[in-house]
Formats: sequence, C-alpha cells, structure tokens
Amino acid sequence: MSPVIAAHGLNLTYETRDGPVHALKDVSLSVGKGEFVSFIGPSGCGKTTFLRCVAALEQPTSGTLTVNGMEPDAARRARAYGYVFQAAGLYPWRTIAGNIALPLEIMGFPKPERAERVARVLKLVDLEGFAAKFPWQLSGGMQQRASIARALAFDADILLMDEPFGALDEIVRDRLNEELLRLWAATGKTALFVTHSIPEAVYLSTKIVVMSPRPGRITDVIDSPLPRDRPLDIRDTPEFIAIAHRVREGLRAGHGDAD
Ligand code: ADP
Ligand code: MG
Repeated sequence: MSPVIAAHGLNLTYETRDGPVHALKDVSLSVGKGEFVSFIGPSGCGKTTFLRCVAALEQPTSGTLTVNGMEPDAARRARAYGYVFQAAGLYPWRTIAGNIALPLEIMGFPKPERAERVARVLKLVDLEGFAAKFPWQLSGGMQQRASIARALAFDADILLMDEPFGALDEIVRDRLNEELLRLWAATGKTALFVTHSIPEAVYLSTKIVVMSPRPGRITDVIDSPLPRDRPLDIRDTPEFIAIAHRVREGLRAGHGDAD
C-alpha cells in the first residue's frame, strides 16, 4: 500500500535577517495509513515546520513530499487533513457547536449535514452535552477536545496535531491521551502528533520520530512494538520503559551534536 506521507531528502531553509536557518535537513520519512506518528525533540528542531510542509503552509527548499500520493498543495485543496494547535483557537462569540460548524460553513456544507456532522464529532470527543455552551464555559481540556472535534468534522483522513495538550496539566493530559487513542482506533485516521513529552509519545504512537535542532533533522525512528490496545498502566511495563529509554538516548545524542 502506498504511504499516506512520503518525504525524501526534505530540506527547508528560512531566510532571515540574521542569515539562513536550516529548519529541516535531509528529512526522509514514510507514514502508512492508520499510523500514529509522534514527533519529539527540543524547541526549534523543525517539528512544526515539518507539519506545515505536510499541510502545504510551507514550501520545502528541496526534496520531495507527497500527501495521499499528491503534491501537498493538491492534498490541501482535497481537504486531506484537519489541524489541531496548542491553543484551542475557538471563537468566544460562537458556541461549541458553532465553532465546530464554522469550517463546514466555509466549505459550503448544507445546514442539515452540518448539524449531523457536529453531533457526530461531539459524541466522538464526549462533549455531547456541551453543544450550546461557549468556549469560556469549558475547561482547557474540554476546549482542546472541541478543537479536535472541529478538525474531525469534515472527515479528513489525516489529523495533524501540534502540541495539542502542551498547555494542560498531567492528569488532564493522561485522560485526553486515553481518549485520543480510543478516537484514533475508532476512526482509523492517520495521526501526526508533536509533543515534548516522552511518556505521551511512547503511549500514543505506532512510530516515534526523534528530532534534533541546528539543523533540524531526524536522529531516530522507532517502530513501537506495543500492542494497539493500551491501558494507561502499560507505562509501567518493561517494554514501555525500554522504548522511553531509547527516545531519551536519541534526544541526548541529538543534543550533544548541537552544542
Ligand atoms: P519546533 O516546532 O520543533 O520548535 P520550528 O519548526 O518551529 O521548530 O522551527 C525550526 C527552526 O526554524 C527554528 O530555529 C525556528 O526559529 C525557525 N523558524 C520557524 N519558522 C520560521 C519562520 N517563519 N521564519 C524564520 N525562521 C523560522
Ligand atoms: Mg513547534
């Protein structure tokens, strides 16, 4: 089966007033349908830049990148992905349902179908009772779930998530991690997920991409041997701890190179 994301020798250099910044260097990566791929690495290693390339918001300087077998720009126009950011980015003057419906309105979905889709994704993220609430009436974790629902509403088969739980406390984050896994299993989406948390990356992923900065590059790609069905206490197993250890080693090695 052809990969959903295929990057070969991707380079991206930002021209800045202080000179060029090599944000991605020789990045090659293949992501299969239905995989959950986490990107982990220190600030500035190009995680966001890579996601933005996939989303056709950034143009690589060299190398090739395809999304669903297409040029990223064509994939964007075909609505290949939903994007979730660290800040939920919900409009305070719209209800939760209104926020989720907004991209559907822009895309021209008729009203009855919008209502049906909004109801379906609210159920998926366990916010059925909150359709008529405003964002400020929800906790940070619930707002982030609403933001994921918005990204799911038009049924793109790729979900791009850039540190979606980075601002949440660990207890809320644990619960959202469990929910996200359940959601991913239920929907069969391909997920690209940026995080700073080693346990989060290991818990969620079928594949973990370890990156390092200056220049931003991949230092390790770990195919997880963990089963797809993962209770939270899998984090106490020797298998989990061994993967976490390998991620930590990869991060340390990358850091040594940079300094
Ligand atoms: P990460 O998400 O891993 O923290 P980024 O992809 O945001 O890293 O950034 C990678 C590098 O590129 C950093 O050095 C950052 O300062 C630089 N960078 C990111 N976006 C821009 C931009 N629009 N213009 C210039 N430099 C940028
Ligand atoms: Mg970033």
